[in-house]
Amino acid sequence: MTGEPLLNAVRPEQERAELLVWMKEKVRPEYGEKPLSPRRDPLHELISTILSQRTNWRDEDAAYQELRALGDWDAIIAAPVETVAHAIRRSNYPESKAPRIQQTLVAIRDSPGGYNLDFLKELPVKDALKWLTDLPGVGVKTASLVLLFNYARPVFPVDTHVHRITTRVGAIPKMGEQAAHRALLKVLPPDPPFLYELHINLLTHGQKVCSWHKPRCPVCVLKERCDAHALYGNDVPSWKG
Ligand code: SF4
Repeated sequence: MTGEPLLNAVRPEQERAELLVWMKEKVRPEYGEKPLSPRRDPLHELISTILSQRTNWRDEDAAYQELRALGDWDAIIAAPVETVAHAIRRSNYPESKAPRIQQTLVAIRDSPGGYNLDFLKELPVKDALKWLTDLPGVGVKTASLVLLFNYARPVFPVDTHVHRITTRVGAIPKMGEQAAHRALLKVLPPDPPFLYELHINLLTHGQKVCSWHKPRCPVCVLKERCDAHALYGNDVPSWKG
């Protein structure tokens, strides 16, 4: 069998909202409560998230540390782009990420708050998302991560795990990641702690159980309401994104 299942491709919004609340409650006993507290400074989060694209967290962290070893943000902007690319070589696609990081830092340096992004706390969420996604190399996922993780703003980052699980279960119809951000945010409660815990626990569930290739449906706590499981049983096909 090929393609993704969708028994209930277009559920009413209220039903999707209720399903997402149910999912959050079902995965909590597996992975625990996740209190929302900033884990690193906003600029660190932003640059690390760019470095993390198609890169595991160890290489992302190594690339970030080598980048910061070049000096402060001004020094990184002033460095030859080849030097920046070399510093971040543990991250995939360093040649394309290096100029984007430098351009992003220039735009931030020249913003009203300089390297301090705290003005994002006060902007309406829509404007804060737009400001961030206007930066080179910053997509809606990265912008959402910074706004939720660092400023407890009510947005929902949709990474590959969240996208895959919410689609397979049937909380959203099949659509791209960008559209999934809008579709999920529309029905989720505007409650940052809720959104944070759901994001983190679904990410873990995607790594441990609902993997892209061979989801472990027999041990999955979501299977009783999962569209993919209802359609395919324990033989859910690989995720095609
Ligand atoms: S039942 Fe299977 S496909 Fe559905 S969420 Fe769980 S692991 Fe994923």
